[in-house]
Amino acid sequence: MTHAYAVVFATPGEPQVLELRDYPLRAAGPGEITVAIEAAGVNFIDVHRRSGALEDGSAFPRTLGVEGAGRVVDCGPQVRGLSPGDRVAFVDSSTGSYASHAVLPATRAIRLPDDVSSETAAALMFKGLTAEYLTHRCVPLAPDDWVVWHAAAGGVGSIATGWLAARGIRVIGLASSEAKRRQVLDAGCYAALDSDAPGALSFIRDVTDGKGAHTVFDSVGRATFELSLASLRQRGHLVLFGNASGDVTGFNLSRLGSMGSLHVTRPSLKHYIGQDAELASSAAQVLASLSKGLIAVPLITRLPLAMAAEAHRIMQDRQTQGSLILVP
Ligand code: NDP
Repeated sequence: MTHAYAVVFATPGEPQVLELRDYPLRAAGPGEITVAIEAAGVNFIDVHRRSGALEDGSAFPRTLGVEGAGRVVDCGPQVRGLSPGDRVAFVDSSTGSYASHAVLPATRAIRLPDDVSSETAAALMFKGLTAEYLTHRCVPLAPDDWVVWHAAAGGVGSIATGWLAARGIRVIGLASSEAKRRQVLDAGCYAALDSDAPGALSFIRDVTDGKGAHTVFDSVGRATFELSLASLRQRGHLVLFGNASGDVTGFNLSRLGSMGSLHVTRPSLKHYIGQDAELASSAAQVLASLSKGLIAVPLITRLPLAMAAEAHRIMQDRQTQGSLILVP
């Protein structure tokens, strides 16, 4: 029998609730494949799940991880187009990718080109799919637009801001350390501002001739929401796609009118790649943009799977630049 192991937690809490456990690997069913995972991506949503901030009501112990990459080792009946030995990435919140193996529907797997390693795919795929829908399908964006991006040196932020800059969009990135701000400028952003210092709003107003940005992408939430609204020009768009600092609550919608007929959306990746065809098309765009140099592989911090708790500590302490991956 295959030796399978996974990171699980028996109760929500601090990173030390994470532990490595053996489990019996089930056989792939109809339409499913088994992947031997070579690298799993760490995402902020994993921190929310582990801490209990995001509750899905599933039974304990729970697994973690929404993406991974590796080699197909088994195909159930009715699987078409994939065979044992193929290398794939997958994005699936039900499998728990902090593990040695994953069993998932073949239609949710993305075949990897030879020149994209499993570690690169794990660093890139979930965040790249997020960057794709946010910057191409969520709000209107045009060359020369002004965009403000919070947490611009993070996993999603570093991919998305480089992609926007490659389209001639002027991005003002916010980040909390000197090293992160250097990275933001290296990605092609117009300016990098200190997210923990005052002055961001006056810079944004000044550089846009007093009008404000066309669009703000905010994944920080409660701590930055008011700055995001105030940074917009009339009829501008706020894309609130995360809540790293806490939920935004108790907002009076009438304020959108008085602040300049603003638009606010709160999108989720699952609603942009829910159909298999959408996933395939978005993943193809991420891989094609990587190959054309329109997006870069994020900086990668690599840790062994057994150090998942340390990975979560680094992420929630705002110390990550680019992507964190776990290697079984
Ligand atoms: P990041 O690598 O961006 O890490 C989060 C960053 O947020 C930190 O590095 C930090 O950057 C910033 N931050 C600001 N305030 C806090 C705080 N109080 N606690 C922790 N971090 C803080 O993570 P990901 O790339 O994995 O995800 C980015 C965001 O996008 C997350 O909020 C995630 O939930 C969201 N997301 C949303 C999706 C959607 O479809 N809606 C899909 C995927 C991700 P700094 O120190 O520079 O401020």
